[in-house]
Amino acid sequence: MNNRKIEEIICILQKEFPGQKPAPRKADPLDILIATLLSQNTTDKTSYIAFRNIKDEIGGWEEVLKAPPAKLKNAIRVCGLANQKSAAIKGLLRGLREKRGKLSLNYMKKLTDEEIFSELLQYNGIGVKTIACMLAFSLGRDVFPVDTHVHRVCNRLGLAKAATPLKTFEQMKHIVPEGKKFLFHTLLIKFGRKICRSAAPLCGKCPLYDHCEFPEKEYYAERTSAEPKENNFIILEHV
Ligand code: SF4
Repeated sequence: MNNRKIEEIICILQKEFPGQKPAPRKADPLDILIATLLSQNTTDKTSYIAFRNIKDEIGGWEEVLKAPPAKLKNAIRVCGLANQKSAAIKGLLRGLREKRGKLSLNYMKKLTDEEIFSELLQYNGIGVKTIACMLAFSLGRDVFPVDTHVHRVCNRLGLAKAATPLKTFEQMKHIVPEGKKFLFHTLLIKFGRKICRSAAPLCGKCPLYDHCEFPEKEYYAERTSAEPKENNFIILEHV
C-alpha cells in the first residue's frame, strides 16, 4: 500500500520539481562525507561556503590533516559548530591515515553497505544520516537518507510513524521502491523546504494534500497565505 502511495507521490513531486535528476553524479566519497558533516545543523548554502573555504584556503585533505586546528576552524566557522566539526574532520582524516595509509574512501566501493556503516560509525561526529548520504550521493547505492525534512514529511504523509529520523530511516528503507530512493530523497528535501515547512506548512497550496495524514492540515490550509519559495540548492549535488 505505502509502496504504491510512494510511487504516486514521486509522480506528483516530479511535476512540482521537473529538473530533479533521478540519479546522483557520484562525486568523490570523502568529499561527500565531509560536505555532509559540514551541513549538520545549518543550511546547504552556508555549508557549501565552508566546503569551498576549505578547498580554497587550505587545499586538499592532505593539507587539511597537516593544517593547524585553528586554520580549519576559521575556514568552516561560517557553518557553525566549528569546534565539533573540525575535530570530527581531523579525527576522520587521522583515522584513515592510520588504518588505510591513504586519505581516500575509494576502497569502500568494494564493501557492502553494512560494512561501510559498521566502519564509519566508529568515527566521532559521523552518524547514520551522514553515511547514508555518502552511500546514495557518491557510491550510487540504493539508500534513502533521512534528515529532519525527510523525517517530518514522511511522518506527516503517514508513510512512517516514528519519533526520530533514525527510526524513520529504519521504517522507510523497507518501503521506498527499489531504484527510487535517491530520487525520492531529493524530491522530499525540496518539497519540505518549499511547501511542507516545519513551521506553518503551506497546506492550502500543497499538491499532496489528498495523500497527507497530518491531523492539522485543514487548520494550516485555511491559514495559507504565503507564496511557496523555491530553495533547491542541495550541497551534495555541487561538491
Ligand atoms: S498537506 Fe500540509 S502537512 Fe500535508 S504534506 Fe502537504 S504541506 Fe505537508
